[in-house]
Amino acid sequence: MQRTAAATQKMTSGPVHLGLPEPKGGCDVCGAPARGRETAHRNGDLSKVSDVNGEMCSHREDER
Ligand SMILES: [Zn+2]
Repeated sequence: MQRTAAATQKMTSGPVHLGLPEPKGGCDVCGAPARGRETAHRNGDLSKVSDVNGEMCSHREDER
């Protein structure tokens, strides 16, 4: 049971934190989805999390 919990934690926190685009300071367009992503992550909604990551990535390309 202990092993299962540790493996689950590693799977949920690892990939999400590794590929996480960070919102630029003061940008609402980035900040709003970042907050939604935190909620989705807390709810275990990983498909929503990756949707938001994709949104933020394409938005950041527009900003440059
Ligand atoms: Zn932005």
